[in-house]
Amino acid sequence: MRKRILIVGAGFAGMWAALSAARLADKHQQAIDITVIAPQPELRVRPRFYERAVQTLVAPLQPLFDVTGVNFLQGHVEQIIPDSKEVSWKDANGEIHLRRYDRLVLASGSHVNRDAVVGAAEHAFDLDQLESATALEQHITDLALQPESEARNTVVICGGGFTGIEMAQELPGRLREILGADAKTRVVVVERGAQPAGRWSQELRDVIIEASAELGIEWLVNAEVESVDAGGVTLKDGQVIASQTVIWTVGVQANSLTAQINAPRDRQGRLHVNANLQVVGHDDIYATGDVAYAATDDKGNHALMTCQHAILLGKFAGNNAAASLLGVEPSPYRQEMYVTCLDLGAWGAVYTEGWDQQVKLTRAEAKKLKVSIVSELIYPPKAERAVAFEMADPYAPFV
Ligand SMILES: Cc1cc2nc3c(=O)[nH]c(=O)nc-3n(C[C@H](O)[C@H](O)[C@H](O)COP(=O)(O)OP(=O)(O)OC[C@H]3O[C@@H](n4cnc5c(N)ncnc54)[C@H](O)[C@@H]3O)c2cc1C
Repeated sequence: MRKRILIVGAGFAGMWAALSAARLADKHQQAIDITVIAPQPELRVRPRFYERAVQTLVAPLQPLFDVTGVNFLQGHVEQIIPDSKEVSWKDANGEIHLRRYDRLVLASGSHVNRDAVVGAAEHAFDLDQLESATALEQHITDLALQPESEARNTVVICGGGFTGIEMAQELPGRLREILGADAKTRVVVVERGAQPAGRWSQELRDVIIEASAELGIEWLVNAEVESVDAGGVTLKDGQVIASQTVIWTVGVQANSLTAQINAPRDRQGRLHVNANLQVVGHDDIYATGDVAYAATDDKGNHALMTCQHAILLGKFAGNNAAASLLGVEPSPYRQEMYVTCLDLGAWGAVYTEGWDQQVKLTRAEAKKLKVSIVSELIYPPKAERAVAFEMADPYAPFV
């Protein structure tokens, strides 16, 4: 009987894990049953969810899986049972099945947690998943149908991380289009830190501050959200901001399947993995993408919950799961290069290199790069076997 690799999730990490495992089996001319279980055979391009037309930001995966010999099962994994090397999963009709594996690759991603603050789950929006980002986009478009008021014209972004910044920078232009050029709109970023973009290098911070100022975005620093309700946001210092549109962007957590594996996890719930991306204490389970807490180098840096890391983590995890079944040497995960490319709306974008975020490009030049990254580089390869296998090599050129 063929050995089985089971991959949970068809995001950046899961897709590349499947292609990379198939590539190695093909290279060694041995058959391995490689199966992906996910709710849809499509890649949902989460890094673009602050943009317009969110519903279109998906790429089909079935043709790619067909040409590379990857099986796809549509459903949700409910339980991981390491003792018997099985998962239970629910198909699209709600029926429960058991599926055995020889190697499991957990690539089930992450989600923003809106439960941290009273009222956020009911009254705040987010742009974390296709459904919630679509609901947010529709809500913003429908603001035009509401009577003019301060609350209608004010958007509050809770959290000044990269997701919050990209959404904030996009909004002044979007609100003008929807509410009219003369509407007095406000975009407010509520940030716990002492200064805007305070967690990054001075160089990057200066760019973000300049771009925010130019687009009229307000930063409320040293500010924490106490609660959210239908009328807006109340801060811990008692200040109330009237708003019909509160967007929650902080508190991203690894998918809850990670809690079913008895292994150390970080504060975000990511499973500790070794250099081959095996979960500590579980040689037959690999964690990858946003569910993996993986060292990127020997200097103490770890992968972030980013697509740049998920893509390479996926390639290494799939390769190594297959290598262990083929009896060939695994390839230790390494990703020394770290870049950021942040969309700053009508101002342009900023591109940095290194963990110390040295600014290399700004404005239109960086925007051109950002567009090529998010509309080409991170999309799946063409549905051609040779092309897909070439790109699935963990050592193929990548950032
Ligand atoms: C608004 C936003 C902006 C971002 N911007 C950037 C950016 O500019 N640059 C960057 O590098 N990163 C960015 N990211 C982060 C990036 O999107 C994630 O790091 C990346 O998607 C992680 O890939 P992944 O494959 O681990 O998880 P995901 O892409 O989340 O994929 C997870 C997969 O697992 C599936 N799944 C979940 N649960 C189950 C289950 N129980 N059973 C079966 N399947 C399951 C999901 O359906 C999905 O197919 C952004 C994210 C967001 C939300």
